[in-house]
Amino acid sequence: SIVVTGATGHLGRLVVEGLLAARVPAGEIAAVVRDKDKAADLAERGVELRVADYSAPETLRGAFAAGDRVLLISGSEVGSRVPQHRAVVDAARSAGVALLAYTGILGGPDADFDLAAEHKETERIILDSGLPHVFLRNGWYHENYTEHLAPVLAHGAVVGSAGEGRVASASRADYAAAAVAVLTGEGHEGKTYELSGDVAWSLAEYAAEVAARTGKDISYANVPAEQHLAILTGAGVPEPMAALLVDVDAAIGRGRLAGTSGDLARLIGRPTTRIADAVSVAVTG
Ligand code: NDP
Repeated sequence: SIVVTGATGHLGRLVVEGLLAARVPAGEIAAVVRDKDKAADLAERGVELRVADYSAPETLRGAFAAGDRVLLISGSEVGSRVPQHRAVVDAARSAGVALLAYTGILGGPDADFDLAAEHKETERIILDSGLPHVFLRNGWYHENYTEHLAPVLAHGAVVGSAGEGRVASASRADYAAAAVAVLTGEGHEGKTYELSGDVAWSLAEYAAEVAARTGKDISYANVPAEQHLAILTGAGVPEPMAALLVDVDAAIGRGRLAGTSGDLARLIGRPTTRIADAVSVAVTG
């Protein structure tokens, strides 16, 4: 089977949809989910459900079978992900899967910001496991920005501390299509893909794009890191997450999320989605 973990998440759902659209029979797709009810629609369409929690290694025993091609979508519980991913890798190795693809972070070992640490450790665990693997090092999602337009429109400002740093983001759908290409294609074993958008933009350019699409007066307000942290926590973002986000902006300032290797466009066989189009959809949608 082709097995997708995190199948009830945003990216996982897009991957399962992409597999079905690529005419992989539903019966050959297995979704690893921790909440069966959340995946009822997938089961109705004939996708096999395997219930497992990254945090409960014993539940992962039934998640994989010999010969499976597995996509491990990194977990969303920041701080717990190393033991979680280790448990998944152990289960995949015990089962004898044919391929393990992992959604890591753009730059791999060169990603020198806090949010990247668990991804780097996971890649190391996968290498040590000896499993046939593919590293899908995902850059930033457009949606990290476009799903948070409400405060931008309310204040007339995109607030950040990334300075002139550029972001080569792509849509979740683009990253999902890359995963589908790897899971359904041949010759990817042992490869590392640096996945990112074709174009890197600055937050000032992003603000101008939102202004153009909404007809509102919106600009980029670059603030010092401490002030950025205070704004985020003031808006209700928990302090540890706010600190990670400010740290990411510093990394953007250093160019760490600006790489445009072209790997993503090559894997999906088309240009990546433009940020302008993502803004457009977010504004009208
Ligand atoms: P989501 O939060 O929508 O999905 C995360 C998925 O992981 C969900 O299906 C969730 O299950 C599952 N999951 C989390 N913890 C566990 C667990 N303990 N056991 C089993 N499953 C678990 O994130 P996205 O789909 O948008 O992104 C996928 C991943 O990419 C994120 O988890 C994160 O690691 C990373 N990411 C990357 C970003 C980028 O810009 N490149 C931005 C944000 C995240 P459930 O549906 O039950 O909650």
